[in-house]
Amino acid sequence: MSSTSQSPATPSSAPATRRPRARADSRLAESRSVSLAYWGVHVACFLAFFTGVSASDFALFAATLAVRTFAITAGYHRYFAHKSYQTSRWFQFVLAFLGATATQKGPLWWAGLHRRHHAYTDRDGDVHSPKDGFWYSHQGWIFDPRWSDTPEDLIRDFAKFPELVWLNRWHVVPPILLGALCFAVGGLSGLVWGYFISTTVLWHSTYSVNSLAHRFGSRRYDTPDTSRNNLLVALLTFGEGWHNNHHHYMRSVRQGFFWWEIDVTYYALLGLERLGVVWDLRLPPASVVDPSSAAPEERAAA
Ligand SMILES: [Zn+2]
Ligand SMILES: [Zn+2]
Repeated sequence: MSSTSQSPATPSSAPATRRPRARADSRLAESRSVSLAYWGVHVACFLAFFTGVSASDFALFAATLAVRTFAITAGYHRYFAHKSYQTSRWFQFVLAFLGATATQKGPLWWAGLHRRHHAYTDRDGDVHSPKDGFWYSHQGWIFDPRWSDTPEDLIRDFAKFPELVWLNRWHVVPPILLGALCFAVGGLSGLVWGYFISTTVLWHSTYSVNSLAHRFGSRRYDTPDTSRNNLLVALLTFGEGWHNNHHHYMRSVRQGFFWWEIDVTYYALLGLERLGVVWDLRLPPASVVDPSSAAPEERAAA
């Protein structure tokens, strides 16, 4: 559904062959189809009243939710958006593919727009600031035609990989395969719990980072934005709720800066580091963790 064309923020480099009207129409069609799919998946959750739930359905729900939560946090966010660690090209694709099963569009679109969020946090140009309204920051921005296209200028480092460009264009393929797998494993109730309900829960936990963690919680660092540290969001998202820490030093692979700040994604990445699957995990210097530090050099960088 998404294209790899230019963000409206950088219209000067838009393909000359596409007329502005045609581009606007295609963005509108894109946002309508996203809206249809988003609310369609929500409504499909009610099929659970007819299918019921078995132990294997619930196991499928827990597995697809956990794997995809990790793929979004460790893959789409900490790797593609922030390059907070290194990995091989094949595992990079695994992260991208699993991330795409989360049905949050392609990795280049997601990571590019997230870099934009950091560059313009809570200012004009931010993709999902709560200053535009709580629900807009949570989910309204997904349907906004201004953000339909992949911002290629912001994600050139990964747009050089043809397999990622392909996946970004055909991001509907992994969710369809996941849905088919769930159906093959557990029939209709497997599809309902393993895909529809799991995806809906995953959407709202992911989007709570943009809404709740910019509205409710504590602020250890005096960042020039509304970011908060929020334990509930951190538990739901495997560590992404330490959002004030993250806006303070976005390059860190670890978002819970202290031992009591639970960060499941970081623990899993430590395990993968031991296995040699990932390496060069980037940690914040002690001077940056100090609550009185400003870390100004990190604020402008992706
Ligand atoms: Zn944020
Ligand atoms: Zn981030």
